[in-house]
Amino acid sequence: MTTRRLAVTVLTLAILFAAGHGAAAGDEHPTPTGGSCRWFMVEADTMMEEAGGGERLANLCERAHRDGYNGLLFWDSNLWARRLPRDYMQNARTLRRTLDRLHFTLMIEMCPRGVQMLTWSGDPSIVEPRAANPTPEERNYRYICLAHPDVIPIWEEQIRRAEEIYHPDGWLLGGYDEIRVACADERCRRSGKTPAELLAEHVRAALAMVRRTTPGRVVAVWNDMFDPYHNAKPGGYYHVRQGFSGAWEGIDKDVLILNWNDRIESYRFWAARGNPQIFAGFYDGELSRDKEAHLVRQARAYPGVIGWMYTTWKANFSVMRPYLALSGFRPSPGTRPESDLPALFLKAPKPDASQADDKKQDSLPSSAPAATPPKPDDTQSADRKDAHDDMSTGNQKKGDNGMGTGDGKKDDNDSGDDDTDDGDDWGDDGE
Ligand SMILES: [Zn+2]
Repeated sequence: MTTRRLAVTVLTLAILFAAGHGAAAGDEHPTPTGGSCRWFMVEADTMMEEAGGGERLANLCERAHRDGYNGLLFWDSNLWARRLPRDYMQNARTLRRTLDRLHFTLMIEMCPRGVQMLTWSGDPSIVEPRAANPTPEERNYRYICLAHPDVIPIWEEQIRRAEEIYHPDGWLLGGYDEIRVACADERCRRSGKTPAELLAEHVRAALAMVRRTTPGRVVAVWNDMFDPYHNAKPGGYYHVRQGFSGAWEGIDKDVLILNWNDRIESYRFWAARGNPQIFAGFYDGELSRDKEAHLVRQARAYPGVIGWMYTTWKANFSVMRPYLALSGFRPSPGTRPESDLPALFLKAPKPDASQADDKKQDSLPSSAPAATPPKPDDTQSADRKDAHDDMSTGNQKKGDNGMGTGDGKKDDNDSGDDDTDDGDDWGDDGE
């Protein structure tokens, strides 16, 4: 990989921008920004189950920190099961300590869909019936019934426990991603609502639950099911004949959009609605570096793009530095990690959890940079993904923009972590 020093040039701009998201943002000429959230995603379930897994995660975070990252999107399906593995709490303490030391932002993916909800509740009707003609990329996935009254209470219980363990900076509501079956059961039909209406209503209720349960935290969703340029296009989506066009009405402008679209119209759409966005660009080298760079340059022109995220389904962390370089990140020696987080994440120091809660703001955009930021981060895991029947969220980002064609990309090669042919043209760019 590459050798590149850490620096933070564009970050200054990013901070200024982020701080002005509510204030100075009145500027008609959007300030190009590199964004100051530089996250990486780690699918950590296997690690967190094993003795010593917390250390391994911590090491991965250290490495990411050296590469210039400052936040972790933590994907850990252990948090979606009733019983935590025996070594879990020790691992969690190790991870939390490391994140604090590195001043990493911690976002946790919660609100699972599918099989985990079935297992948790024991209620087969909490998911929609399996489609009669599933496409290959659906594997054994199942999808929550958007009209089932128990979904959000279960999500709340899971979030309360995760909050006790990690006290993260924010949550990704991960269950709203690639919803390929919806409104197929009697309960949904009786509602008389369209899939888009049910989805909008559901996400509104989930946002309200999260904000009530953990006030002031950042709440994020994947863009796709709420994006007219992605999976909420007019017309059907997989087994949902009416599709989800209009579902974006459930997303208020305080919701952070983790945008994995590769169409620039999408970034324009969310910017116009006033939502902050994270450009979730890298996906195992799926786009060539040139294409990625072009998209990055375009996206940077929109206000509200507050940062970048590196995602891998193959535990390929080999091109993290070049990815950051594409986003405009340049290491600058001497910059403290806590000084380059956007206002979105600036919060008062937390002497303890209860006091910290009191200081958190109600909404995302803040024009008043507070004192120091909090921070945590993540880890990764090389293996699995087929370990679960339902990976629930986030599989195959990008390349799944439509009706069941063209995916499978990241879907089916989730074994192992050899990434030799991915990202080849990613190596060492720009050094
Ligand atoms: Zn239903």
